[in-house]
Formats: sequence, structure tokens, C-alpha cells
Amino acid sequence: MDDSFYMKQALAEASKAAERGEVPVGAVVVCKERIIARAHNLTETLTDVTAHAEMQAITAAAATLGGKYLNECTLYVTVEPCVMCAGAIAWAQMGRLVFGAEDEKRGYQRYAPQALHPKTVVVKGVLADDCAALMKDFFVTKRR
Ligand SMILES: [Zn+2]
Repeated sequence: MDDSFYMKQALAEASKAAERGEVPVGAVVVCKERIIARAHNLTETLTDVTAHAEMQAITAAAATLGGKYLNECTLYVTVEPCVMCAGAIAWAQMGRLVFGAEDEKRGYQRYAPQALHPKTVVVKGVLADDCAALMKDFFVTKRR
């Protein structure tokens, strides 16, 4: 399985978020080629600004593994993580981070480019157009 396969799974999660009226961001955590967590943004549903897809996915993955460090895992997320999530990804010592679309307004790269754990391997731009299109469609529909 390659990165685009798992990113499609994250995109499916993002679509679920959109259906609930949530900003469409989805994430999956993969460990040894197995998806151990799936999550999407739930900030409206939970009325919790911290309920980003990545936060949910990290919590679920750690619970599944029974350990807080995810250094053998890859987090796939459709949109570049924010500063909060980048911090959580660092605390989890994530092995790899793969994201789709960049987020120039809220993404960590602009505000905290050093926020991740130094050992985390980062891959950007996987299915970026699909990831960005979901976000764009969501906000266009919302503005109507
Ligand atoms: Zn975030």
C-alpha cells in the first residue's frame, strides 16, 4: 500500500465530516500497514475547538496500541496540521506525517516550522488537489 491509498481513507473521513457540517478534515493512523485509527474533525459536534481530526486520531491510536508514543506509525491527514496538532504530533513522537493540502492561513509551517519532533519524517502534497477541493467545496456551499 502506498501513501495515496491511505490518504484516500483519510479523504473518506473528511467527507464524513462535511456531511455533518464539520470542516472537512480527515485523518488515519497506520501502524505496520494496518489502519489503527480513523477520525475526522468534530469541533462543531463536540463544541470543542481542540477536536481536530489529528487530535482524535492520535488519542484513538494510542488507545489501540496501549502506548502513548506513535514512533512506528504514520499519520495521514488531508490538510496540513495547525500549530496545536503539530504539537500533539510531536508529543506522540509520530514516525511519519503525511498530509495533503497545505493550509497557508492556519498551518504549522508558517507559524511553527520547528514544532514537530525532529525524527518525524514529513511527506507533503499527497492527493493535495482532492484534499483542497473538499475544503473549497465546503466553504463555497457554506457561503451560499
Ligand atoms: Zn489542528
